[in-house]
Amino acid sequence: MIDAIITANRKSLGDFEVGRVLPSVQRRMVGPFIFLDHMGPADFQPGQGVNVRPHPHIGLSTVTYLFEGEIIHRDSLGFTQAIRPGEVNWMTAGKGITHSERTDPFRRDMGARLHGMQAWVALPDGQEEIEPNFEHYQGKDMPAYEGDGLYARLIAGEAYGAKSKVRTSSPLFYVHWEMGADVKATPPDGYSERAAYVVSGEIEVDGRFIQPGQMVVFTVGARPVVRSVKPSTVMLLGGEPVGERHIWWNFVSSSMDRIEQAKDDWREGRMHLPVGDDLEFIPLPDTPPPPSRPTPGVTEDEPGKTAAEAERA
Ligand code: MN
Repeated sequence: MIDAIITANRKSLGDFEVGRVLPSVQRRMVGPFIFLDHMGPADFQPGQGVNVRPHPHIGLSTVTYLFEGEIIHRDSLGFTQAIRPGEVNWMTAGKGITHSERTDPFRRDMGARLHGMQAWVALPDGQEEIEPNFEHYQGKDMPAYEGDGLYARLIAGEAYGAKSKVRTSSPLFYVHWEMGADVKATPPDGYSERAAYVVSGEIEVDGRFIQPGQMVVFTVGARPVVRSVKPSTVMLLGGEPVGERHIWWNFVSSSMDRIEQAKDDWREGRMHLPVGDDLEFIPLPDTPPPPSRPTPGVTEDEPGKTAAEAERA
């Protein structure tokens, strides 16, 4: 029934913490999902907030979904978009995009709460180098179900006979459950790779208890039943594998040469910065830092680090 239970690694991003769920030692990907961060929950003091400076991506889509708070996205295509709870920002990097993620200045002045998820979905073979694209979706674009102590929202993909309007590039599902206490529910079937991540509360699967910050990966073909021990927030995700992918910093590709190219492009300033946010950026982690700044400390031996972590350094 259960293939693995992954415990997220807590990582400080300076002003707030994330739980890095994927990639993990036990499991690099679940379907096309190659990266999963649980952001916060964070209580920002006045003057603090998210401040991820412009950085590049290739070969993936970033999927941002919040429970609380707000993040302002700006990208090199010219999109500026606030994302709020229940909405989705789906940014496809394809052959290359840059973006920033920041707290709005007014919200920063007041102090704010932030809680959400960011997933990266690897693009399938033949689509890794497509034109970049950004799409924002409202809650009404996502089918929802409510009954018997369960609220379920299909963020992306197909599940339970429903289809989300959020456009995807390969077979996958991404579901948000709000469960009351002692509620039973079944993950979507019809996909070879599936997992459930506990945001809050506690669930039981096949006699195993899964805590907040843990992801349970289901065995292929299993018919698991998830029971909430207490009121719980659970994210379900998975789909069909897209094949071997390399991940280095913010770059995902089936080709290591392509990742080297992306490193060169960013180092040499060949990727345009976001429109309206082009005064600073996160340097390539390997770049020797100016004398006054500490080394970012990201090497090829630590491929799971992200832009936000490089920022912290
Ligand atoms: Mn990013």
